[in-house]
Amino acid sequence: MPTKCKAALSINFKEPLLIEEIWVDDPRQGEVKINISACGVCHSDILYMDGAWGGNLPSVFGHEGAGIVDSCGPGVEHIKPGDRVAVSLLRSCGQCYYCQRQLSSQCENTFATDEPYRLKMLDGTSVNRGLRTGCFAEYAVVHKSQVVKLPDEMNLNSASLLTCGVITGFGSVVNTASIKAGEHVVVIGTGGVGVHCIQGARVSHAATITAVDVSDEKLEFAKRLGATRIINSTREGVREVVLEVTQNRGADAVFVATGHPAALDGIFKLIRPGGLLVLVGMPSNGVYFSFETVEFIDANQVILGSKMGGSNLKVDIANLIELYDAGKLELDALISSTYPLENINEAIDATRTGVGMRNVVVM
Ligand SMILES: [Zn+2]
Ligand SMILES: [Zn+2]
Repeated sequence: MPTKCKAALSINFKEPLLIEEIWVDDPRQGEVKINISACGVCHSDILYMDGAWGGNLPSVFGHEGAGIVDSCGPGVEHIKPGDRVAVSLLRSCGQCYYCQRQLSSQCENTFATDEPYRLKMLDGTSVNRGLRTGCFAEYAVVHKSQVVKLPDEMNLNSASLLTCGVITGFGSVVNTASIKAGEHVVVIGTGGVGVHCIQGARVSHAATITAVDVSDEKLEFAKRLGATRIINSTREGVREVVLEVTQNRGADAVFVATGHPAALDGIFKLIRPGGLLVLVGMPSNGVYFSFETVEFIDANQVILGSKMGGSNLKVDIANLIELYDAGKLELDALISSTYPLENINEAIDATRTGVGMRNVVVM
């Protein structure tokens, strides 16, 4: 039987969400229905709600979910009803060209959960799900590959952060750039993704981790999580400091964890010859970036795109939970505030205006 439950619906772009009752379909072959307990608010949800990436409405957003498995369709073996799980937008068939080449974030397959009639308003109107998840609701149905089992004792509010902000920032350092001990790292933008670039660099034993932002509050937090030098770019020259901490060579890798185009101005001057520029933060559609090609070639520099930290969900989440249990990965302190689903628009406004590190909606 489909489940009737409350959800936060985006009806028009740029307007506050409406709390409505909807029907959530049952899980079919290879699918899982989850009673959602918590969902972090990510800037990608807000970009979608604002229409920056297009898409159809009405839609349920929310893609940093955690909850308890309600029911499983046939062919689901790794989890069972009652398990605590984290839910991600990443999903994969395991069989296609990209899945077989360790790039499951580019999976080519289509999935039945995307069919628009799987979620419905009470009047029968089809409801879309933003970023393939739809966790700003009491229930969600997703493909089994989007669900990772959590330890029984793990706090679900903290666990909700794992599946987007954490794997994206941490994975960009560990998977995409393979940062080694002794390297010099710069992280531009120290929000919900950038702080995990910093944690990834700290766990990888980077020699220096220079954090750049315009918010003193976020920079102080970055220091707590492992930044060895912080720069408020409204007051200090980023290039001067980066050269000073890297014996005048420039960083081995610069991670841009904001979608703000100004972050890319003069970026190659921060990177040593042969060094990496890793683009992590997602901008709106239509943002371009230009640079002098001959200097870039002459310096043997490299640009890498890192979607969701190039993560393999099951392996990476399991590793992150081990680090968390060992006290080497901070999650709990990142949750600035929790909001009941009814007050989700306050959580979105706080995220939009940069208040707090991560705002979490709890069902
Ligand atoms: Zn996200
Ligand atoms: Zn695939």
